[in-house]
Amino acid sequence: MPITKSNTNSLKKTDLLSLTLPQLQQWFVERGEPPFRAKQLYGWLYQRLVTDFSAMTNLPQSLRSQLAQEASIGPMVVRSEQHSKDDRTRKILLELDDGKLIESVLMLYPPIGESSVRATVCVSTQAGCAFGCTFCATGQMGFDRHLTAGEIVAQVLFFARELRDAPWSAKGDREGRGRPYSSAPIDHITNIVLMGMGEPLHNYDNVLQALRILNNLDGFNLGARHMTVSTVGLVPAIRKLSQEPLQVNLAISLHAPTDELRGQTMPINKKYPLEELLAACKDYIAATGRQVTFEYVLLAGVNDTAEYAHLLSELLVPLKQFAHVNCIPVNATSADFKSPSGESIRAFRNILFEHGVSNSVRAERGDDIAAACGQLRTRFEKNRNQQ
Ligand code: SAH
Ligand code: SF4
Repeated sequence: MPITKSNTNSLKKTDLLSLTLPQLQQWFVERGEPPFRAKQLYGWLYQRLVTDFSAMTNLPQSLRSQLAQEASIGPMVVRSEQHSKDDRTRKILLELDDGKLIESVLMLYPPIGESSVRATVCVSTQAGCAFGCTFCATGQMGFDRHLTAGEIVAQVLFFARELRDAPWSAKGDREGRGRPYSSAPIDHITNIVLMGMGEPLHNYDNVLQALRILNNLDGFNLGARHMTVSTVGLVPAIRKLSQEPLQVNLAISLHAPTDELRGQTMPINKKYPLEELLAACKDYIAATGRQVTFEYVLLAGVNDTAEYAHLLSELLVPLKQFAHVNCIPVNATSADFKSPSGESIRAFRNILFEHGVSNSVRAERGDDIAAACGQLRTRFEKNRNQQ
């Protein structure tokens, strides 16, 4: 069909946040512009964090107008933003340009010991999820679609702008010593975790593209060591990830140490049972020399007994110091799972320690704003349907 005036407007704009630097250079060359425009634009998008072409003052006026016509910068609308009472957890509900809803979370961590203050974005990689884990609010929605690289990048930039405009400092009474303190303010994102809605390795190409964009030195410049991909356990994709030049952290949603138990809450276990999953993790460790985190959502009376703690240890002891367990007390969803008591969690962890398995527990946070991903959207849609 020839391009006429009436149909140019309906042509889809290029989302610049979906393009790597070489792709953006190519994009400019196709429009008769010198390739160095790409670096200039990357600076505006990822360092100055602008959202409007008119602010890009080192680009000629005519080019700025052309960009406004043909391109966009992560088009999405914030439908709801919630801050926890202590303001350390902030959650947004974003509406994508086709009306799909996704969630992203910013988590702010005060400095502990030697480690400095952190600002971590929990990013969604799909609208919905196809894997149906029974304890997960997103899993109960079913799968809508993959997110584009630009839609993944835009979530990080949203919080980067928010922190830049209003830096956060940890305030309080450190370790209960009665001495008020305030940390140096933080004005940038230090980490991202792909632990929002969706399964990152099911959307492999767009996820890797987004991570490469965020890693670019001339752009956002976030180190691969500050990025964590969490997966339900897609074995072929784990193997592929081990061969990537970009060496990000890998977290595996394990949640049970036997096939029988894992199969009850995680349907994927039928396709990729534990033996295959652990073999892929061993090969990943051999290929990368990197530690793997095993996430273990604690479900009271289901997977938190002493017996399962021993079985989990036996499974992971062969991985030696390359395995770390992150115990996660389950966040309440509409499913009937409960978090174990503090005492049960300690007992479970002590058994892991006795076997020499390194482990930690994720501090519960943001319950007052429905922290588990998928819950804000579920609530929002319920309210919308009632209106
Ligand atoms: N699909 C990926 C990443 C998104 S889920 C995965 O499954 O790993 C991120 C983490 O949150 C996973 O470990 C997941 O099992 C966990 N999770 C899901 N529902 C949860 C809930 N209700 N409470 C606590 N953690 C939950
Ligand atoms: Fe999907 Fe991960 Fe939720 Fe399972 S836990 S349903 S893989 S988002």
